[in-house]
Amino acid sequence: MSFEYCWICGDLTGRAGRGEDSLYDTNDEGPYCEDCWDATGEDYE
Ligand SMILES: [Zn+2]
Repeated sequence: MSFEYCWICGDLTGRAGRGEDSLYDTNDEGPYCEDCWDATGEDYE
């Protein structure tokens, strides 16, 4: 199992990595933790 860290704040994202539900924005920047993701205002399904 792998871990990844938010590229904004450095906290664990709680997700396993790219392709594993990680949060990347439309500029392909990330991953974000959920708190920082909320701050981007991006949508995801
Ligand atoms: Zn963060």
